[in-house]
Amino acid sequence: MTNFDQEKGFATRAVRAGQVRTAENEHAEPIFPTSSYVFDSAEQAAARFSGEEPGNIYSRFTNPTVRNFEQRLAALEGGESCVATSSGMSAILSTFMGILSAGDHIVSSRSIFGTTRVLFDKYLAKFGLETDYVALTDISAWQQAIKPNTKALFLETPSNPLNEIADMAALSALAKAHDCLLIVDNCFCTPALQRPLAQGADIVVHSATKYIDGQGRCVGGAVVGDNQLVGEDVYGFLRTAGPTMSPFNAWTFLKGLETLELRMNAHSAAASSLAQWLEQQPQVSKVFYAGLPSHPQHELAKKQQSAFGGIIAFEVKGGRAGAWKLIDSTEWLSITANLGDTKTTITHPATTTHGRLTDEARAESGITQGLLRISVGLENVEDIQADLQHGLDLL
Ligand SMILES: *Cc1c(COP(=O)(O)O)cnc(C)c1O
Repeated sequence: MTNFDQEKGFATRAVRAGQVRTAENEHAEPIFPTSSYVFDSAEQAAARFSGEEPGNIYSRFTNPTVRNFEQRLAALEGGESCVATSSGMSAILSTFMGILSAGDHIVSSRSIFGTTRVLFDKYLAKFGLETDYVALTDISAWQQAIKPNTKALFLETPSNPLNEIADMAALSALAKAHDCLLIVDNCFCTPALQRPLAQGADIVVHSATKYIDGQGRCVGGAVVGDNQLVGEDVYGFLRTAGPTMSPFNAWTFLKGLETLELRMNAHSAAASSLAQWLEQQPQVSKVFYAGLPSHPQHELAKKQQSAFGGIIAFEVKGGRAGAWKLIDSTEWLSITANLGDTKTTITHPATTTHGRLTDEARAESGITQGLLRISVGLENVEDIQADLQHGLDLL
């Protein structure tokens, strides 16, 4: 990242940061589909391999299109270093493999992406990394869960699907006091709405699959932080183990970043208006959206985020039967668990994303049978309302 990039506004960085023109003087960013690179001489090859001379060797290590994406995302998150990964899950895996060792302990929010929980409990646990879970918003629970071998606190804010908000400044102070790292999955807000590094986080992880792509095309991820943790430790794992991003996907995400702020603001505006409308419907018993003054952490969300994002959860009367009836009565909303797309999606968390939890764990997480989650897309919000109205009329 050049100083030029950091001095400019967010929108300018989103369009320009990290681009290096080739001798062809192309205007748009090129894609470099090459697995390896050639050297001028045997001596240069030796210098590259020994690390004496910086430069490309092999695309598991570096690729110009991928680097362009990494530098642009680093410029937007305000981090020194970014590494792109093949998926959001490999971003999380690479982070923990890069920075932790057997015997270390993680304290995690229990309101995290289900597969992340499987990664912690089934796979990291096999290699001697232990994880304990706490309620995202209960600072004293985080404090009590920290042990002498705790090395990382992990969370998503806002949480999925209930939009609970973590107090990042408070958790960062707690992490620093106990010599551990605060790692934030910034998938729901993206740097367009929230920059965790500026609020004390040490590392940001992303599923680029969601809003960074924004149009449901590619799977990818990224890790952002300082030159040591991310530039050395996480990158070292990535170039060795190999869950790197392909240049084609990097190019798609690069283009996604150019419109990220416009899209996130449009998703947020539509979700705010839909959440207000839902709150007025007699068949809806509760709406979970941090942009609503009724949300218990509305003030904290206002402090940490510039807008409230595109994800709404709401509870309908009639439990699971009511929720399923509403989903099945829609004419064109997409019934899928994916999110962060231009297309509005609707899902029933209790039987899909959170279906594998025990009844107690689900109750603890507030995932009731009547709960629905909508990822508000970029269609006309009146049309989204009208499609939901079909089902509401039957409840
Ligand atoms: C989807 C998602 C992930 C996993 O990302 P993939 O790109 O599907 O591997 C991680 N965290 C959150 C919050 C997600 O929504």
